[in-house]
Amino acid sequence: MPRTDIEQISTLLPAWVESSKKQCIHGKTASYIPELSKAPIEALGIHLIDSNGHSISAGDSELAFTMQSISKVFTLILALMDNGEEVVFDKVGMEPTGDNFNSMLKLELVQPGIPFNPLINAGAIAISSLIAGKDANEKSQRVLRFIQLLSNNSSLSCDLDVYRSESATANLNRSMAYFLKDNGVLQGQVEDVLDVYFRHCSISVTCADLAQMALVLAHNGTNPLTGDKLIPRRYVQIAKTFMTTCGMYNASGEFAIQVGLPAKSGVAGGILTMVPGRYGIGLIGPSLNRKGNSIAGVNLLQTMSQQFDWSLF
Ligand code: GLU
Repeated sequence: MPRTDIEQISTLLPAWVESSKKQCIHGKTASYIPELSKAPIEALGIHLIDSNGHSISAGDSELAFTMQSISKVFTLILALMDNGEEVVFDKVGMEPTGDNFNSMLKLELVQPGIPFNPLINAGAIAISSLIAGKDANEKSQRVLRFIQLLSNNSSLSCDLDVYRSESATANLNRSMAYFLKDNGVLQGQVEDVLDVYFRHCSISVTCADLAQMALVLAHNGTNPLTGDKLIPRRYVQIAKTFMTTCGMYNASGEFAIQVGLPAKSGVAGGILTMVPGRYGIGLIGPSLNRKGNSIAGVNLLQTMSQQFDWSLF
């Protein structure tokens, strides 16, 4: 089935969602941020939008959830737009780690002690300190406004219950941030940097919001519906490359083989992915597999990519 259009997808999608949903019982919701454990474990929803603005959704696509690590793609882009490549890659590397997203191991083992990439927690915390703004509040507002712009949804906001839940329990992220400060990686007060980080992880979205943001990345930074150029092409290229090499935690290699699309997942169960030049896709499935990715979501994307021959490789 080489050529797909939105009608074809909409005919097949509901049955595929129902079938992938059966995977949910084999996973778990994230519990290290207590508020996230309340998410409906059996949910699976998806929204897809094409370059003409035609969209389809299936399953529990109206469910609101927090972006978590998906927001790291956009803070990276904003930090690049604020500072340029040289400054950003002085503070974070370009390589996958092979370790957990919240590991500190290599920070001490591998010199010069900068995070391996901007999508692991240490890297995203370093990126949060590079966002321009006079204080934590202004930086957080700039990130939120950027995500509102890309999603074309000015009502997006931070889920304060999730924000407080993470902030109250983030011992590991806190220790990592203090370690980075000591290594000279973080600028500013550590608690202020962490506040920016927790707030952008807690931005509440639906699948349609993620799909809209993904559509801009799928079109190299231009919103195809308005023609507005929102991100320089080079920075989209950098973001999509990180999504391919590190976007799905330690299963990024497996995802590249099974699905073959740039993607980023978050511990709330969201996945943002795209078919470059064609579709933006947002997905939610809070039941996670052992690698921290939505178990039913990955299954659904695998079915879609293989049926429609979407892999880029
Ligand atoms: N806010 C989460 C954390 O720092 C994000 C992790 C994720 O989604 O991978 O642990």
